[in-house]
Amino acid sequence: MKNIWNEAAIRKEFARLDAKTGLKEATLPISFSNAKCTLGSYSSAGGGAFRFSRHYFDDPLWPIEEALDTIRHEYAHYMDHMVYGNVGHGATWKKCCIEVGSLPIRCYSRESANYYQDMYEAERKQAAILDHYRTGSFIMHPRFGRGRIVEIVGADINRYALVNFKDMETKKLSLTWVDKNCGRCA
Ligand SMILES: [Zn+2]
Repeated sequence: MKNIWNEAAIRKEFARLDAKTGLKEATLPISFSNAKCTLGSYSSAGGGAFRFSRHYFDDPLWPIEEALDTIRHEYAHYMDHMVYGNVGHGATWKKCCIEVGSLPIRCYSRESANYYQDMYEAERKQAAILDHYRTGSFIMHPRFGRGRIVEIVGADINRYALVNFKDMETKKLSLTWVDKNCGRCA
């Protein structure tokens, strides 16, 4: 499995945020730990340094949103210290969070990781269902009756079917909508 959250990838996000804030975080030391309860940390000692957990950053199933949020969360600590001279999760830190696009919440939440994982899983399942619809498939529309799919455009869950119905112009229908409301027929 390819690990995308190596030091270079983290620095790239830091550099992007530096461009936004005018700070110079991307040059600070980054190290890794195997901590399971701490995703990341920032220490202002000795000019500032970051530490991130390999346990999460090496996990290919860990949602990208969580990784980015962790990186931005720590960036906000650095920014808070640089700009306001503060540490912790206070009002100025929250201000920094908003500026760098991190959720201004103190702790990593298992729930939000589960939320993204469940969402991906539901999308994968839905996409697999939509795979059954092909060019030439027939559907039964609740108002237009039987129609034939002449083309499918788009990908994954964002697919549309161009459908020919009797005595009508070709209709463009969301395939997810078709699956919910029409169903296939012979
Ligand atoms: Zn924190």
